[in-house]
Amino acid sequence: LQINAVTLRDAEDRVSGAVLVFHDLTQVRKLESARQEFVANVSHELRTPLSLIKGAVEMLIDGQERTEEASGRLLKIVDRHANRLGLLIDDLLLLAQLDSGRVRLNLQTVSARTLVREVEDDLGARAAARRIELRNEVPEEFLVRADADRVRQVFFNLIDNALKYGRDGGKVQIAARAHAERIEFTVRDDGPGVPPAALARVFERFYRVDRARAREQGGTGLGLAIVKHVVQAHGGAVRCESVVGRGAAFVFSLPRANATAAD
Ligand code: ADP
Repeated sequence: LQINAVTLRDAEDRVSGAVLVFHDLTQVRKLESARQEFVANVSHELRTPLSLIKGAVEMLIDGQERTEEASGRLLKIVDRHANRLGLLIDDLLLLAQLDSGRVRLNLQTVSARTLVREVEDDLGARAAARRIELRNEVPEEFLVRADADRVRQVFFNLIDNALKYGRDGGKVQIAARAHAERIEFTVRDDGPGVPPAALARVFERFYRVDRARAREQGGTGLGLAIVKHVVQAHGGAVRCESVVGRGAAFVFSLPRANATAAD
């Protein structure tokens, strides 16, 4: 709490009163410490791949790893972590744009099923590698009023996570339900799920349930923060439902293009 005080004086310069102003700084402090934490997280996330790249390059320069195979392995490390840095920077830039409100949504009537199919094309090989069955159960006639590129990214991030954290040989289902004015989408997997204490926190920037595991999977820790921002920019909401050991479901809503009066 910050208190500013001013004394009031009359014509003869006698103190006749005082004005006290109380500022509640709780919110300001909270924002400030969230900002500091974010900067610390970003630095750490950028430093990790960078130091791995540096380590590999130093070994190449030293020339101790002379065989073709050994240097090939080092170059693959450089390539992998340089890619990771690229992804991280792309995600950070996108979040910064969403934060500043500079992102203008290009709203159109969009077929959600088509967006999911496009993401399926991108991720099909990854699903096949883990024998995970992708099920696009979104009905053809479900149209949303949305920015296609942004919403494709929402589906991509959620399906990508479902494939990363899902079970080998399991299934990932993308389903939809129409309400009067919005359509609710669910991306469901049958992996380990999310513990109750983490259900809300997974949408925070850089929050991970299992740090080591998540990093191993190559994620940036920003995927769900982006999902939340994009969905909210469309006037919708997103939540995670899960029973540990039985999988996770991410549920979000978007405005319906052909809204009807009846629910
Ligand atoms: P990351 O790049 O770490 O995947 P995200 O923002 O996409 O970042 O997800 C944040 C965290 O939420 C993940 O690290 C993981 O712990 C958890 N998570 C996300 N999706 C799932 C899922 N389908 N099943 C279990 N945990 C998940």
